[in-house]
Amino acid sequence: MKKIAILGSTGSIGTQTLEVVRNNGDIQVTALAAGSNISLLEQQIREFKPALACVWDEKKALELRGRTADLDVKVVSGMEGLLEAATQPGAETVVTAVVGMIGIQPTIAAMEAGKDIALANKETLVTAGHIIMPLAKKLGVRILPVDSEHSAIFQCLNGEEKRQIHKILLTASGGPFRGRTREEMKDIQVEDALKHPNWSMGRKITIDSSTMVNKGLEIMEAKWLFDVPLDQIQVVIQPQSVIHSMVEFEDGAVMAQLGTPDMKLPIQYALYYPERRFLPGERLDFWSMGQITFERPDPENFRGLALACEAGRIGGSMPVVFNAANEYAVNEFLNRRIPYLGITDMIEEAMRAHQVMDDPDVEQILEAERQTRRLLAGISI
Ligand code: NDP
Ligand code: MG
Repeated sequence: MKKIAILGSTGSIGTQTLEVVRNNGDIQVTALAAGSNISLLEQQIREFKPALACVWDEKKALELRGRTADLDVKVVSGMEGLLEAATQPGAETVVTAVVGMIGIQPTIAAMEAGKDIALANKETLVTAGHIIMPLAKKLGVRILPVDSEHSAIFQCLNGEEKRQIHKILLTASGGPFRGRTREEMKDIQVEDALKHPNWSMGRKITIDSSTMVNKGLEIMEAKWLFDVPLDQIQVVIQPQSVIHSMVEFEDGAVMAQLGTPDMKLPIQYALYYPERRFLPGERLDFWSMGQITFERPDPENFRGLALACEAGRIGGSMPVVFNAANEYAVNEFLNRRIPYLGITDMIEEAMRAHQVMDDPDVEQILEAERQTRRLLAGISI
């Protein structure tokens, strides 16, 4: 039996991972971690019987301990607990499905404990890819992409030589506001931004998709995962979300992975790689689809994409600041404290104010995050 731990089990990726586990019936879940949703976590513990469960919020952990007193599960909390869940003996693979750069330390700890990483948590790679990728190589652990575009690229690279990649064609739906100008986006409300045309995801990534910050993060994620320079990564808008990404090779051949927009496919692929398993659900029907269309991205109006490329090119601690500012600003927007365009304004402010550090270590990354949050808390947008 394959054994896994899931960090962020109550979220969109976490619950879909558990659906994959449920459908296959041959994976044992050894640890689950969540932020504060103990009602769902309790149900998951009862169904999947992990030996360890972690809740970030200490009070909620105490409550969960009471609620699960009849079960053989240890309940832990906070960062210490998250690290315990990430490193707990037993699991071979840790699915990192927490949202945000809070995932850095548990991901590194899991790798150091010899675990493969099924990586959904892109913010970790964007901010600490320069630490994580060499560490994976040194320790001989695998980083298996869960993000649909990166899984597509990974699938296109099966049996190919990485050095023969000419270009990565990273597809994007363009989000709900594709085609709009900044002027036309200034009154966007939280409810509008939370409606993604093709994918159903957590709140933060849904906002990131609408601003195109998500695609910016994914460019940096692809750079680290596939060791390809940024100028060999091209974003292609493909509004139907049928092509999940493509790779162009030196001879001009382009390989693509297509499918319905269902995260269970990349999740299952990461868990069973290199094996493919039956996956129930909708299949592509090219007759009824009719057409797949393509467009150029619009970095002038979608500043998030332009700023991400700038942060990626500058490198060092700049992607940390880009990401930390975005995490802060998205939360402010979701709590209706800043307008929609304030998200990219805040990212820009933070990047302009930042003194770049080359090759930051984990402590310096976390300090750059704290500095960014302090800076943004003090400005009004
Ligand atoms: P969600 O917001 O749906 O879920 C986040 C999960 O993380 C929840 O289980 C949440 O717990 C948990 N969590 C939050 N904070 C902590 C913490 N401090 N300690 C432990 N657990 C915590 O996010 P998504 O599932 O959408 O996204 C997760 C990651 O995957 C992100 O990095 C995202 O970019 C990436 N991703 C997501 C895709 C998707 O389709 N959703 C696609 C590709 C990538 P609680 O519920 O208790 O708050
Ligand atoms: Mg994606």
